[in-house]
Amino acid sequence: MDYIFPRYCCICGEFLRADHFRYLCEACVKKIILTGENICVKCGHDFGEIMAKTQSLCPRCLCSKFQFISLRSAVRLTHITRRIIHQLKYKHGEYLAEDFAKIMQKNNTFMALLQDSVLIPVPLHWKRVFKREYNQSEIIAKFLQKLSSNMEVLPLLKRTRYTPPQVGLRIHERRQNVKKAFSINPKIKIDRNRKLVVFDDIFTTGSTINECCKELRRHGFHNIYGATFTQTSKN
Ligand SMILES: [Zn+2]
Ligand SMILES: [Zn+2]
Repeated sequence: MDYIFPRYCCICGEFLRADHFRYLCEACVKKIILTGENICVKCGHDFGEIMAKTQSLCPRCLCSKFQFISLRSAVRLTHITRRIIHQLKYKHGEYLAEDFAKIMQKNNTFMALLQDSVLIPVPLHWKRVFKREYNQSEIIAKFLQKLSSNMEVLPLLKRTRYTPPQVGLRIHERRQNVKKAFSINPKIKIDRNRKLVVFDDIFTTGSTINECCKELRRHGFHNIYGATFTQTSKN
C-alpha cells in the first residue's frame, strides 16, 4: 500500500518506509521523552532534574483533592507531543492513534498501571463526536488494548451535557464547566472492586478526570486510577 499511498512523518515530513510507527520517523520518535522516575506520587507530574527526589506532591496536587488513587502520564509534554496531540484532536488525526499507543507502550512503568484494568475513555458529548467524528481517547485506548491484551476498554461513563472546550478557561471555571457532566452508563454491569483507569489524552488541571472519578465513586467504585498520554506542568 505504501507505493500507492506513501507515508510521511507528521512532524518533519520525512518519507517513511516500513517502520514500527506509521506516521512518525525514528528520529522524531527518539525526541519524545518518556516520563521519568522523579515524579509526584499522586498525579505523576515529572519533576525532572529540577526538584530533589524528596518532594512527594507537586503544587497542583497540594491544592486539589483528586478522587483517583494515582494518575500516570506516559510522556513529557514537549514541542513534538504538543504537535501530535493537536493533529490528533483538531486535524482529523485519528490515523495517529496507533502511534500514540505504541509510544505509550515504550513506558513500562506506565503500562504496569494499566495491567488487568478496565480502561474508561473520557467520553465526549455526541455533538463533539459528530463534529470531530471520533473520540481520540477512545481510539487510543482501543489500540492500547489491542497491543497489550491484558486490559479491557469499556464506555462506563457517558457525557450528559454539552460543555464548551476547557481550553482558555481558568481552573475554577474548568471545574464549574465539567461539574455533573458525566453519568454512569447503566447498560454496563461490572464488579465494584474492579481496577478502573480513567483515560484521556492530556491532564491539565485535572477537572475533567476528577469529575469522572467522582461519578464512579458515587456508584460505589473505589479502585480508581487515571492515565493520560501526557500532562501540562502548571496549574
Ligand atoms: Zn520525523
Ligand atoms: Zn501532582
